[in-house]
Amino acid sequence: MPDQTINKVSIVIPVYNEQESLPELIRRTSEACAALTMAWEILLVDDGSSDDSASLLTAAAEQEGSHIVAVLLNRNYGQHSAIMAGFSHVSGDLIITLDADLQNPPEEIPRLVATAQEGYDVVGTVRQNRQDSRFRKLASRTINHLIQRATGKAMGDYGCMLRAYRRHIVDAMLHCHERSTFIPILANTFARRATEIPVLHAEREFGDSKYSLMRLVNLMYDLVTCLTTTPLRMLSIVGSVIALAGFAFSLLLILLRLFFGPQWAADGVFMLFAILFIFIGAQFIGMGLLGEYIGRIYNDVRARPRYFVQRVVTASVKDKKE
Ligand code: UDP
Ligand code: MG
Repeated sequence: MPDQTINKVSIVIPVYNEQESLPELIRRTSEACAALTMAWEILLVDDGSSDDSASLLTAAAEQEGSHIVAVLLNRNYGQHSAIMAGFSHVSGDLIITLDADLQNPPEEIPRLVATAQEGYDVVGTVRQNRQDSRFRKLASRTINHLIQRATGKAMGDYGCMLRAYRRHIVDAMLHCHERSTFIPILANTFARRATEIPVLHAEREFGDSKYSLMRLVNLMYDLVTCLTTTPLRMLSIVGSVIALAGFAFSLLLILLRLFFGPQWAADGVFMLFAILFIFIGAQFIGMGLLGEYIGRIYNDVRARPRYFVQRVVTASVKDKKE
């Protein structure tokens, strides 16, 4: 297929206070890219670092014949926003994202490119030697199941940012106007053919993770809201269950009272509970109804493209990409 050829590869790396890793990052990434047969560029996006990262990037980009492009943001916007900023400046046909902390080895880049060349729109990765608790793995599996239900594509490791996207996927993502996004999931909603390959994962060598607990929680919410508005619908479901349980309970109480007499019913205390349950359930259903409206408002506000045409094929103009 002619529109599948890759002439240039762009690497997008968000950088936030990573001055210690930068020299090695640039060296190793450049080495890995030099092994490619096509043209390449490395876009380093400085996400408002307060250390020397920005000046290191600028110096690297200003060198004669440098393959590095430095994109400097005025303040810290977060990893995914920084990557989006990088996306809007790429010129390649295949875009690869990477973390600046060298936890994703840049040496995997040629393998990602080779896999993309087999005709995939999105190449994801699964961290091989990931040592996580049982709870984390269970959470990952649940979320993977959700993602699969919502996008129709399985994703083994949504947290690993070493990924390759074809240009049309990146263009589609740039058309999404929501402020908080989770890029791997957004990309999968636009992909026709996605695959995953196993990659190595290393310990962070310099500095600490830039994600505090609060930011991780926030990221989790970004992930869920980026994916689906189902949690809002859950309110109605929970409400219906509570209301039905309350109704069944009250029926049971009425029957038992008829059989065993008023003494048994403790003067209607339990009946009050049953009625209370029915009302609590009704409240939840009401909130769920509000949620349905909010979900629709949210979908309209973020104004994602209604559909995404990857290619139009006609008899006269073959392979017209649009
Ligand atoms: N990062 C960023 N802006 C932020 C936080 C992180 O650009 O506000 C970058 C960071 O420099 C790194 C990548 O995002 O390149 C992943 O961050 P980190 O390694 O701290 O996350 P973790 O590996 O702990 O999930
Ligand atoms: Mg990291």
